[in-house]
Amino acid sequence: MSQRTFAGGIHPSYFKDYTAGKPTAAARAPTQVIIPLHQNIGAPCEAVVQVGDEVKVGQKIGEPQGFVSAPIHASISGKVTKIGPYNHPLGKPVEAVFIENDGQDTLYEGVKPNKPLEELTPQEVIQIAKEAGLVGLGGATFPTHVKLSPPPEIAIDTVIINAAECEPFLTADHVLMLERADDVVYGLKAFMKALQATKGIIGIEDNKPDAIVSMQKAVAKGGQGYDLEVHALETKYPQGAEKMLIRATTGREVPPGALPMAVNVVNQNNGTAVALAEAIKLGKPLYERVVTVTGPGIQHPANLIVRNGTLVSELIEQCGGLTADARKLILGGPMMGLAQPSGDVPVIKGTSGVLILTQKFVKDHASGPCIKCGKCVDACPMHLVPNFIGSAAEKNNFELAEKYGALDCFECGCCTYTCPAKRPLVQWIRIAKGEILARRNKQ
Ligand code: SF4
Ligand code: SF4
Repeated sequence: MSQRTFAGGIHPSYFKDYTAGKPTAAARAPTQVIIPLHQNIGAPCEAVVQVGDEVKVGQKIGEPQGFVSAPIHASISGKVTKIGPYNHPLGKPVEAVFIENDGQDTLYEGVKPNKPLEELTPQEVIQIAKEAGLVGLGGATFPTHVKLSPPPEIAIDTVIINAAECEPFLTADHVLMLERADDVVYGLKAFMKALQATKGIIGIEDNKPDAIVSMQKAVAKGGQGYDLEVHALETKYPQGAEKMLIRATTGREVPPGALPMAVNVVNQNNGTAVALAEAIKLGKPLYERVVTVTGPGIQHPANLIVRNGTLVSELIEQCGGLTADARKLILGGPMMGLAQPSGDVPVIKGTSGVLILTQKFVKDHASGPCIKCGKCVDACPMHLVPNFIGSAAEKNNFELAEKYGALDCFECGCCTYTCPAKRPLVQWIRIAKGEILARRNKQ
């Protein structure tokens, strides 16, 4: 197996053992779900139900308000008790639909199988992805139907399934490859059909040899008539970042500021592939997903299938509660995840993990001056000079930060991780990016 990779990056401790090899289990359906109406990059949804309505599992409750948006569906059956703002993983409260569980788990009548993939047109596949509310499940939450609709002048020749799962601690993608390998392949074929692409690649870090074997078997079984390959990638963070994955699997370089389609590629997460397979085969909308509940601060780490809108505090309780030294809650992985002030926040489509860290793992950001060691420069996979951008941002000189390429930073955190002076580079750069974009929008 060849080693494929990219320049830069880091080798953090992976801490996958907390949940690696643990099969998925269904989380208890909560007595109430709180489903935010904004769960994708792009426009939010508007509620299409009212307080007092009875809803069923898989019924649409949020209608997109724009092309770059995805509908939202009920994850339990029961009564809508409230529509109003509630905590959101991104920080600010957003409008949410509160549903009280009737305990019946009644499936919506509209949830029924579609025609087999072979009989669907590319446009029908895109429409199914759209109606099912599919978004990128790796955390980016970009609406899937938009990714499947590049401008007509761009021909996509390759679809890459991102199964690298390079973030420490997370194993949701890994377990899907062990349990649902056939559906990953089915979803890949569906993506290829929608885009009329001729090649499919599944990229997996080589610290998951069982997943590589599982996917190779599934490709041999279900890939007849398709040009599909499984690529073992060097275990290195951020191997799963879009541009790094394309570089490692195809050798193509996505230019700064451009999207993967500029090099005729579309990336999709393997969880999204499984969700598309379910949407075609069962008509199932995206109302639940695998979430890794993990870290040294949780009693019984697990890979759980969780209904959208379940409170994180409920998952923590189902996993035996916190340890006495638990200190920090993060949704996602430790590198790019979002720290949360409390567990009173719902799981949404982009929630790949619930990570609880103890004091030992929480980085002290008492930073010193830059000692010009260059480690952040070596680590930056985007070939930026993070110490320059960070210093400019620290001094609120956002024009200079922009000149140094702040907007090309995708906030992987490699620079902060490697800095011996503990300078919070990515945090400063994130602020600079926000300011630069806010000023642009104003103009
Ligand atoms: S500057 Fe941005 S892209 Fe480069 S290492 Fe830091 S966070 Fe990652
Ligand atoms: S790693 Fe830290 S100390 Fe070294 S050059 Fe970058 S910012 Fe300066």
